[in-house]
Amino acid sequence: MRRVPNRDLRADSLPGVGTLVNEPAYVALVKEHGRERVVEAIRAQIARERAGGGDESSRRDAVEARLRAGVAPRLRRVINASGVILHTNLGRAPLSKAALDALAVAAGYSNLELDLETGKRGERATLVSGLLTALFGGEAALVVNNNAAAVLLALTALCRGREVLVSRGQLVEIGGAFRMPDVMRLSGARMVEVGTTNRTRASDYEEAITPRTAAILRVHTSNFRVTGFTESASLPQLAEVARRRGALLIDDLGSGAVAALGDEPTVGESVAHCDVVAFSGDKLLGGPQAGIVLGKEEVVRKMSRHPLARAVRVDKLTLAALEATLRQRLTGHEEEIPVERMLRASVEDVRRRAAFWSVKLADRGVETELVDGTSAVGGGSLPEHPLPTVLLALRGPASKLATALRRGDPAVIARIEGDRCCLDGRTVLKGEDETLLDAVEAAASTIKR
Ligand SMILES: *Cc1c(COP(=O)(O)O)cnc(C)c1O
Repeated sequence: MRRVPNRDLRADSLPGVGTLVNEPAYVALVKEHGRERVVEAIRAQIARERAGGGDESSRRDAVEARLRAGVAPRLRRVINASGVILHTNLGRAPLSKAALDALAVAAGYSNLELDLETGKRGERATLVSGLLTALFGGEAALVVNNNAAAVLLALTALCRGREVLVSRGQLVEIGGAFRMPDVMRLSGARMVEVGTTNRTRASDYEEAITPRTAAILRVHTSNFRVTGFTESASLPQLAEVARRRGALLIDDLGSGAVAALGDEPTVGESVAHCDVVAFSGDKLLGGPQAGIVLGKEEVVRKMSRHPLARAVRVDKLTLAALEATLRQRLTGHEEEIPVERMLRASVEDVRRRAAFWSVKLADRGVETELVDGTSAVGGGSLPEHPLPTVLLALRGPASKLATALRRGDPAVIARIEGDRCCLDGRTVLKGEDETLLDAVEAAASTIKR
């Protein structure tokens, strides 16, 4: 006689899914999650039991846990105590209160593409043009999905089938596989490299210009710097060469500094010299993810009429948040924009906050110490412009503490420095202090246990 393995015997004793789902124990689950999902969860759980995991006594609870896990929100709030202001993994710029309020307006019906005065069709992409040109100068503005899209659109609409000159020192890869040579190929423009990795002069561009040249592209090297024996052409020099030889000057600014900040080029300066300037909405501007384009009227119009513009168009929620952020900047309320507040916080501001946390945590039995350190702007801005800060170092095993904080609710992202788990108050939002202290106390107690 053939031996039947044990596993099969157990399997045979399991009831059918169709029978189980009708049992009283599952009625409430079916009501909450729907019959189909419950059947699927029971089936998966039984398969697990067959494989030796779990048994009948805990089956209903296991099915419920499975159902809940399946619909638990994956996107969760995080307290950023890492000290990196524009942390791409944490969603870059946190929005201002005014931007949040604007999201609620755009969430319903709005005049997104309707001129309420004339009743005629309006253009969403130009809804914030006036604010942008008022803030940064330039003749016209356009907003698209993100800066990568803005650069791709500029190259496609303005340079397809022609040549674009780029310095060999600027053929960079920005995080997330945005590689300049690849973007260029995608646009259908032909890239012509000029100069060398460390030195490119205005004359290098000049000599490479031919009747086939559509544009000179300048790319901000973001989180990468060539130092030492270097040379690059200034914007006024490039503008002069481009104008004289009938080429466009396109600037991929990356971060787009609103005001002078370290060696970061400002948007205004770039707009004054270039035909097209593109930068991100969620980097130094402190708004939502967006690609902001500023430049000469005719050039921007050409971009906005290209079919690709429709494929990379900006979403209504983004526009609403961007408009609110720009209005705050234009009316002198920049300090209400979280990114701006974090950039401007003095080391004394941060020290005061860390000292306050330290006292509060001592009351709760958590030992800490203040240490000097640096915060980072992040997002590819100012890699060599660290901001002095004061860190709150937690006593205890650094990596275990950081993990416990990250797994907490809300999650706290700390930073390990010199073998210690540190919290940088510069990037913790206003009003998050009490929640943070609760989270730290909870994390510390899991370590003690
Ligand atoms: C960040 C960055 C980009 C990409 O911008 P996104 O808004 O993330 O698409 C492109 N170019 C430069 C120079 C950048 O710094």
